[in-house]
Amino acid sequence: MEKKKIIRNDEKGIQKTRFIVQSIFAALCLWIGVEFYFFNQYLETNGATAFYSRPPGVDGFLPISSFMSFYLFLTTGEVHSAHPAGFFIFFSIVLMSLVFGKSFCSWFCPIGFISELVGDFGEKIFKRRLKLPKWLDYPLRSLKYLLLGFLAYSVIFLMSELALKSFLDSPYNQVSDVKMYYFFANISQTALIVIGVLFVLSIVIRNFWCRFLCPYGALLGIFSLLSPAKIQRNEKSCIDCGLCNKACPSFIKVDKVKTVISDECSTCLNCVDVCPVKDTLELKTLLPQKKRISKKNVAIGVVSIFYSCNRICNDNWQLEK
Ligand code: SF4
Ligand code: SF4
Repeated sequence: MEKKKIIRNDEKGIQKTRFIVQSIFAALCLWIGVEFYFFNQYLETNGATAFYSRPPGVDGFLPISSFMSFYLFLTTGEVHSAHPAGFFIFFSIVLMSLVFGKSFCSWFCPIGFISELVGDFGEKIFKRRLKLPKWLDYPLRSLKYLLLGFLAYSVIFLMSELALKSFLDSPYNQVSDVKMYYFFANISQTALIVIGVLFVLSIVIRNFWCRFLCPYGALLGIFSLLSPAKIQRNEKSCIDCGLCNKACPSFIKVDKVKTVISDECSTCLNCVDVCPVKDTLELKTLLPQKKRISKKNVAIGVVSIFYSCNRICNDNWQLEK
């Protein structure tokens, strides 16, 4: 067998940058939560406490309302005035998925971030990455698509444009952020148990929520399949070391394919970072020509998309006020 000439991959990894982006975004979410708490205190005490304006970013935690707004926009071109920040955040996430794959999950999502940290902790305990057998993994993975299908069917097939607008205008939707606040502020025992179980399961099985249950991730996974950016492996220079396979948090057999086409790939670039051979595993565009997208550009790209969409929203938000 012909011996391969190995040129070492000396490129710097991107995981530190990804961790910084995730941390900043998680801190931002926390700050939004704190601001929203003070806003609700102000309302509850009839203005006896210091005034805090409602942080628009809280709309990002209303995925169903945002999904309905997004669908209304697709069908009518109209951006509904209820929770506009939710629409723009949703829009930016979809755009990100169309350009860079399911990158929101591994670069921004605070639940994805926590799942990753919890998964790392689990690996330290068990000294290995546990994976469910295929017969259990496949049906469980379809759960998130069932949840998404149910939601999409209810909105797309059961609601007319008028019904959609009535819902978005309804008092229920207008105060859904406050309802969500009270859900967590007065969290029930059942909800706590469910969160606790998901937490423990995420220690044992990496990304349990994201992999099996998150309908948001399911939607982004579908959009990501349309993205031209895919992880591609150069079969000629690959030395079949299997490091990419081991590093993949989504259990994708990167070392067995030429192009990763998977709804589970979150463009975390772990596989690219660990590949020891230069120009062997890269994120490239499939069309029009195989153009390499550097790791740095992925980071700049996802942050720019998120920032630009939210900047547009902010300007609209200011105008509305
Ligand atoms: S294939 Fe690579 S980029 Fe995709 S999830 Fe796995 S490690 Fe991350
Ligand atoms: S890390 Fe994966 S792509 Fe890179 S040389 Fe090893 S098997 Fe091949």
